[in-house]
Amino acid sequence: MTPGASTRSAYETFLNASCDRLGYGPSIISLLSLAAMEIKVEIPIVRDNGELAIFSGYRVQHQNVRGPCKGGLRYHPEVDLEEVRGLASLMTMKTALVDIPLGGGKGGINCDPRKLSVRELETLTRKFVKRIHREIGPNSDIMAPDVGTDARVMGWIHSEYSAIYGHSPAAVTGKPLALGGSAGRDKATGYGIGIVVKEYAERRGIELKNATAAIQGFGNVGVHAARAFTELGMKVIAISDSRSAVFRKGGVDIDALIRHKQERGLLSDTEDHEAMDPARLLETECDFLVPAALGDAITVENAARIAARTIVEGANGPVTSEADRLLRERGVPILPDILANAGGVIVSYFEWAQNLQREIWPLERVDRELERILGKAARDVLDRAAAEKLDMRSAAFDIAASRVKEALDATGF
Ligand code: NAD
Repeated sequence: MTPGASTRSAYETFLNASCDRLGYGPSIISLLSLAAMEIKVEIPIVRDNGELAIFSGYRVQHQNVRGPCKGGLRYHPEVDLEEVRGLASLMTMKTALVDIPLGGGKGGINCDPRKLSVRELETLTRKFVKRIHREIGPNSDIMAPDVGTDARVMGWIHSEYSAIYGHSPAAVTGKPLALGGSAGRDKATGYGIGIVVKEYAERRGIELKNATAAIQGFGNVGVHAARAFTELGMKVIAISDSRSAVFRKGGVDIDALIRHKQERGLLSDTEDHEAMDPARLLETECDFLVPAALGDAITVENAARIAARTIVEGANGPVTSEADRLLRERGVPILPDILANAGGVIVSYFEWAQNLQREIWPLERVDRELERILGKAARDVLDRAAAEKLDMRSAAFDIAASRVKEALDATGF
C-alpha cells in the first residue's frame, strides 16, 4: 500500500467505526467519506537548465457544508491523489472537531522542493494557481502551508490569485505578515500541541515539569512543539529530521540546533548533543512521543517497540490504523492528529477572518483565542472519552462526525 493509500484507509477505518457507534446509515457514511470535488492538473515548467519538466498538481475538496474547504498544500515527491484525498477528509474532521466555520480540503504537487531553484518553485506555484483559480478562493477553498511549502509559497499564491480577482488576501492563509498574514500563524501548530498536552496532563494528573519528550521532525511543527514544551518546563530529550537525530538527557537546545542545521545541513555532530540513529527516535523512552514529520511513521513494524507513555500526533496520519489498534491494546494513549495539530488551522481561520474584515489582530489576541478554542476542543474530547469509555481518537471522530452530520441534516439535502 502506498503511504497515501494508507492515510486514506486509516481515515475510512476510524470513520466507519465512528458511524457505527453513532448509528449512521450507508448514505451518510458515503457523504462523510467521498470527496465533493477532485482536481488533477499537469504543470509543465522549463527548468533552469532549459529542459521541460512536468509535475502533477492535486486539490481535493472534501466537504464544505460547515464552511469553505480549508487545508494545506504539500510539495513532496510522493504526493498522489490517494494521499491528498485522505488528508482532505481529515481536515473536514479537524475543522468540525474544533468547531470553526470551515470545511476540509488538501492539495499537493509531486515535486521535491529541495531540488528546485526559487525561480522554478515560483513558476510551478503560479502555474498551479493559473490552472485551478476558478475552483479556489475566500468563499470556496483556502490553501495554507504544509510539508515542503511555507509563507513565501503562500505569498506567490496570493499574488497570482489577486492578479486575476483583485486584492484577495483571504484566498490563502499562512502568508507573510507583509501580505496580510496573521501574527502567530507560524508557531500555531506547534504551540497548539503544547495547549493540548497541557489540558491532557491536567486531566490525567501528569506533572509536566521535567516530563520528557521525543519529537520526530525538525520542520515547522517539530521546532515549535519543542519550543512550546520547553516553555511548559518539559525536556525535549531527542529530536530528528529526515537524515539525522540527536539526544540530550537534560533537554536539547533548539536555537543551537537550528543554527547548526543552517550551517551544516544536519542536526548531528554538535559538540554537546549526542548523535542517534533517526530510525530509532520513535523508540525513545519518554513521557510524550510526537511524530511530527510525515504519515505512517508508526506501523505494525515498529508499534511494539514504542516505549513512550503517550503519543501526540503532530503530523497528519502518523499512526496507521493497524498500529493504532496494537497501541490501544497495549494501553498507550494517543492524542489524535485532528485535535493535537489543529492549532494551525485555527490560526489560519483567524487570518482568513482578519483579511475578510480588514483587521489586524495583535499576537496576544491570537494566542488567547487559540488557547480558548483549542483548549475547549481538548476538554470536549477528554470529557467524551471519559463519558463513553472511548479512546481519544474515537471520541474526537464521534464529535466531529456528528457535527458534520448535523450540518448536512440542516441543509435538508
Ligand atoms: P516541514 O516541511 O516544515 O517539516 C517536515 C520535517 O520532517 C522536516 O524536518 C523533515 O526533515 C522531517 N522528516 C521528513 N521525513 C522524515 C523522517 N522519515 N524522519 C524524521 N524526520 C523526517 O513540515 P511541517 O509543516 O512541519 O509538517 C509536518 C507534519 O505536520 C505533516 O504531516 C503536516 O501535514 C502536519 N501539519 C502541519 C501543519 C502546519 O501548520 N505546518 C498543520 C497541521 C499538520
